[in-house]
Amino acid sequence: MYSNVQLLIDGQWCDAAAGQSLPVINPATGETIGRVAKADRADLDRALEAADRGFRTWRKVGAFDRYKMMRKAAELFRERAERVATLMTMEQGKPLAEAKAEVLAGADIIDWFAEEGRRAYGRVVPARAQGVYQLVLREPVGPVAAFTPWNFPINQVVRKLSAAVATGCSIIVKAPEETPASPAELIRCFVDAGVPAGVVGLVYGIPAEISEYLIPHPVIRKITFTGSTAVGKQLAALAGLHMKRSTMELGGHAPVIVFDDVDADAVARTMAGSKFRNAGQVCVSPTRFLVQEGVYKQFVERFVEHTKSIRVGNGLEKGVSMGPLANPRRPVAMDSHIEDARKAGANIRTGGQRIGSQGNFFEPTVITELDRSARSMNEEPFGPLAVINPFSTFDEAVAEANRLPFGLASYAFTRSAKTAQAIAAEIEAGMVTINHLGLALPEVPFGGIKDSGYGSEGGSEAIEPYLNIKFVSQAGL
Ligand code: NAD
Repeated sequence: MYSNVQLLIDGQWCDAAAGQSLPVINPATGETIGRVAKADRADLDRALEAADRGFRTWRKVGAFDRYKMMRKAAELFRERAERVATLMTMEQGKPLAEAKAEVLAGADIIDWFAEEGRRAYGRVVPARAQGVYQLVLREPVGPVAAFTPWNFPINQVVRKLSAAVATGCSIIVKAPEETPASPAELIRCFVDAGVPAGVVGLVYGIPAEISEYLIPHPVIRKITFTGSTAVGKQLAALAGLHMKRSTMELGGHAPVIVFDDVDADAVARTMAGSKFRNAGQVCVSPTRFLVQEGVYKQFVERFVEHTKSIRVGNGLEKGVSMGPLANPRRPVAMDSHIEDARKAGANIRTGGQRIGSQGNFFEPTVITELDRSARSMNEEPFGPLAVINPFSTFDEAVAEANRLPFGLASYAFTRSAKTAQAIAAEIEAGMVTINHLGLALPEVPFGGIKDSGYGSEGGSEAIEPYLNIKFVSQAGL
């Protein structure tokens, strides 16, 4: 069922003008399952021209009509969920149930932004003089360039796409070459729902070539990127040089603080499930577990037990709870994290090895008592690796949680309302979830601080970066 993936330029699905393409590989089998068109400058020029025209058309379409088209796109996406999820599992590896949940959550995100676009209100500021009207208007910022990664092929695109379309912007999406079919199907729903030509464009190619061309281009007014901190800093610098607005959703290294007044078994079960979702290739993945001494031993035992029960395999097979890593770079990175931890004298409680010789399978891994200087305590493993260390005092845990330059997600578990409040106040992160997994719903902010980036991809805050403020002061003559 996997077929070759095309570009979308000016409302037409097409191959690259020069006829070039890249292979798409199934991470569970290592087989080439299709090809994706590789755009060059001629294709990008056409996409830019179309986005410019698309913006001029779309900005004049009323918010209510934009909303209706988006709601239709969401319905189409729900109807096609099964097929899109299968494509995603074939190209990305995650279990089918996770892929389907991502598609359905994507439809909810479209709905939410569609609604929010109707509420992008302005303001009337009381004037000092009679007969003067001071209006604060909000207008679409213009054509957007979006760069999205392979870990959530739908979720990373749909937030940017929906915010742009809801506010009257046009958008060119540079979606991930490694997982191109599922985001193409998302975008097809917008086309099929009647969004005019040029409002949404889709390109693939060499990421650096495309970003270096699109970001400085005068047609593009805003950029948005999800990916690593290193690349994000380069793109943000380029955007700054050309005075383009930008949103950066970058890497994290989420701490999980478990105080000893909790039910350690229940927390270990919840967090082991969360850790190995999408094989840990999640920017908000819980990674540095800090567990208070009173429940440390019990927590580690339970966490390891749950980790051992995870069934790794081809995501298309029933009963599989963790698929392969999405590309061959990840097992290489995992090997090097584990080698480094071994050298640092850590305890590898379970896992630590690749599985088989076909595909990118890796064992769910738990490491304990890892020195703070080790690589996995500082660098995002972006894979199925949990590190668990003990702590004794609140201050010690908070200092460790805040030690890294990242500040994306963080988790804490405690029965004490006082401790929970203190955690919420002290943790340096864009998102803090206490006593449950409460992140990433469409209606709540999603984003980081420090080296994890800036801007929000959820909540009403996510609409703001797609709107310019225009102040109009008008008096009668
Ligand atoms: P990478 O840093 O090269 O790429 C990350 C993403 O950025 C990819 O989608 C890639 O296509 C894109 N990219 C890279 N260079 C680019 C450029 N110059 N212009 C535009 N886009 C560019 O590495 P990778 O091996 O794909 O991923 C490794 C690391 O990236 C992970 O360890 C993780 O830290 C980070 N990552 C984060 C997220 C996230 O959700 N925040 C998603 C994927 C990867």
